[in-house]
Amino acid sequence: MDDLRDRLLAGERRALARAITLVESGRADHRAQTLQLLEGLKGPVAMADKPALRIGLSGTPGVGKSTFIEAFGMMLTAQGLKVAVLAVDPSSARSGGSILGDKTRMERLSRDKNAFIRPSPSQSHLGGVARRTREAIDLCEAAGFDVILIETVGVGQSETMVAEMCDLFMLLLAPAGGDELQGVKRGIMEMADILLINKADGELKRQAVRTCADYAGALRLLRKRPQDPEGFPKALTVSAVEEDGLEKAWEEMKTLAEWRRETGHFAGRRAEQARFWFEAEVRDGLLARLRAPSARQAMSALAQKVAEGKLSPGNAAQTMLADHLQT
Ligand code: GDP
Repeated sequence: MDDLRDRLLAGERRALARAITLVESGRADHRAQTLQLLEGLKGPVAMADKPALRIGLSGTPGVGKSTFIEAFGMMLTAQGLKVAVLAVDPSSARSGGSILGDKTRMERLSRDKNAFIRPSPSQSHLGGVARRTREAIDLCEAAGFDVILIETVGVGQSETMVAEMCDLFMLLLAPAGGDELQGVKRGIMEMADILLINKADGELKRQAVRTCADYAGALRLLRKRPQDPEGFPKALTVSAVEEDGLEKAWEEMKTLAEWRRETGHFAGRRAEQARFWFEAEVRDGLLARLRAPSARQAMSALAQKVAEGKLSPGNAAQTMLADHLQT
């Protein structure tokens, strides 16, 4: 583990890939090794003063996420920055298939030596995907990546999860037909720092500009958040295909991140996130113990006694918690 850690800290890609494989493994001995590895690295809170920027990007399938990430990523690597791309794919949790983070979707970027792309693993539940992604982000940060892009599709839970892992959260949207705002849920709008209206080119350009103005109006109606300087959250138009507006989007991201760093919101947010994930892990761990065969047996035996009136629900719960949830 010491060797792996040293190579990881030296920014060796193979070491990073191996460390993420370890993080993704379901084996108990791998889990122990992962924890040992992570312990030897500085965590996200300690790293908050370093320049790595964790950017979440969400959007429905077809909106242009992979096109955008490839163009945006290439722009950043051309500036000498190291870029990692991770994906949170809720469909892989359900079906075992994956629609995100596939390297063939970003062929040019995957050949770039300053980029590292890791597809979403197939995991059995969202909690597992969350843990893996969070820890993979820490590993990328330790390996010296400057920008970590975390991609997800626009379906509720996974967006909330990604928002809890990143410093900035982007929502990629398509130009709307007519004047509807594509039914973007208010909760998701409230999480976003920058809305990017993609496909602002050719015949779609005018529509994109109008959609952008509509969203800008909607954003102004939201309650002001303490972590935002004047003018944020904001909406911008981009064209991933024509690589237009990407510089501007990056400037805005840097401005926002800089302001948050200076005002303490950046480090504060990471501390809050660390606390959130700690609590989530405790909850997940308890639930996993409850699902173990011996615990299930004890649970149904106690439930039977409760049903027969031999034990009160409160006492049965006490017994369960005291006797069956230890390691
Ligand atoms: P994803 O499912 O969100 O990853 O979307 P893709 O990146 O695969 O893009 C879906 C489709 O939209 C593809 O046919 C892209 O060529 C197209 N597309 C993506 N970005 C743009 C853009 O900026 N302008 C136009 N006109 N089409 C785009």
